[in-house]
Amino acid sequence: MSKVLIIGAGGVGQVVTHKCAQVPEVFSEICLASRTVSKCEKIAAQIKRPIRTEQVDADNVPELVALIKDFKPALVMNIALPYQDLHIMDACLETGVDYLDTANYEPLDEAKFCYKWQWEYQERFKERGIMALLGSGFDPGVTNVFTAWAKKTQFDEIYELDIIDCNAGEHGQPFATNFNPEINIREVTAAAKHYENGEWIETKALSKSRTFDFPEGIGTRKIYQMYHEELESLVKHIPEIKLARFWMTFSDNYLKHLEVLENIGMTRIDPIKFQGQEIVPLQFLKALLPDPASLGPLTQGRTCIGCFIKGIKNGKEKRYYIYNICDHAKCYEEVQSQAISYTTGVPAMIGAMMMLTGKWRGEGVFNMEQFDPEPFMEKLMIHGLPWVEKQI
Ligand code: NDP
Repeated sequence: MSKVLIIGAGGVGQVVTHKCAQVPEVFSEICLASRTVSKCEKIAAQIKRPIRTEQVDADNVPELVALIKDFKPALVMNIALPYQDLHIMDACLETGVDYLDTANYEPLDEAKFCYKWQWEYQERFKERGIMALLGSGFDPGVTNVFTAWAKKTQFDEIYELDIIDCNAGEHGQPFATNFNPEINIREVTAAAKHYENGEWIETKALSKSRTFDFPEGIGTRKIYQMYHEELESLVKHIPEIKLARFWMTFSDNYLKHLEVLENIGMTRIDPIKFQGQEIVPLQFLKALLPDPASLGPLTQGRTCIGCFIKGIKNGKEKRYYIYNICDHAKCYEEVQSQAISYTTGVPAMIGAMMMLTGKWRGEGVFNMEQFDPEPFMEKLMIHGLPWVEKQI
């Protein structure tokens, strides 16, 4: 029985709050805090259990510390944006409370995805006797656990890992992103990068593509190579991997809009002067685009995210595919959110459950693949993200 403080009342925060509320035996009291308190109140009103709501600026460490000291949670779940990661980690250090997030820290002025800044907290978290679990979403998150599971149950050695993320859903909007538009566009327009024989190889954004035949009627789709943060931690913790890549599907319509927006400078993240005021074009674009939370009732179709792995078992080469399929409309029926928020929010809740029930414990800063994947895999089956594995 533990109190949990959830920070961030966006699309993912809504799912996390619903899913934690469904497990009162672990999450005995929940506080949802965000910059805009009315968003917390709206989510709390959807849930039968009482949810405490608070206004907090997660970039303001003393404000965070005061809230943590007042509510006294066993765990702070950072479901705000990557920019807040270090401030929330600082507040956890000051108060001696465990930390969890779903995305690695990014500096505001540079779309740089790497764990360096958060891994630097290792010694301080260890000395303080507290734990941080990084990247407990789907990708990163479940994809790390899938890889650890494959390593534990299927392979003696893994040498090739392809993480493949398909959103086969349709929301009917001319252009919208299915999670925070600013974070999404920064990620998609960043240079692609993969790991090969000990080196990181960078290529132009969206310049490498191929097709992949997705299971269960989703069919053949074009996938584009990108960089994703779990590649960095996975090749560190499973160093036998020789080739690690990340792929994502995009519709032609999404890519056409993105190309135009990039060409005219609307995806820039450096400030420009406009009518005597400084604005960041991408932040202005975010204000114009549909709020991802509003896509919930509109989105139909399914997502399919998984890992395609090659390696050796008993001296023989083996190919293995593990994936989850998630239906947008079914997610909306359950928690009033689409599948992208759902597939992120459920693993955040399960990661929290692993920490609070002592199944995953440690002092310091951890990525998901560093723990036994088995209890997490069991909970995915129970809490809405069943997985399928196949020998190919
Ligand atoms: P949203 O933009 O919908 O929600 C973010 C929320 O955080 C908003 O409610 C926002 O407040 C709040 N927030 C932002 N800044 C602050 C601040 N300084 N203090 C307090 N609250 C703040 O984003 P999503 O819900 O789509 O994404 C949440 C996180 O999940 C992101 O970090 C994203 O990268 C991550 N993610 C991870 C995935 C994975 O698989 N690992 C996949 C998808 C997302 P306000 O409402 O006032 O703007």
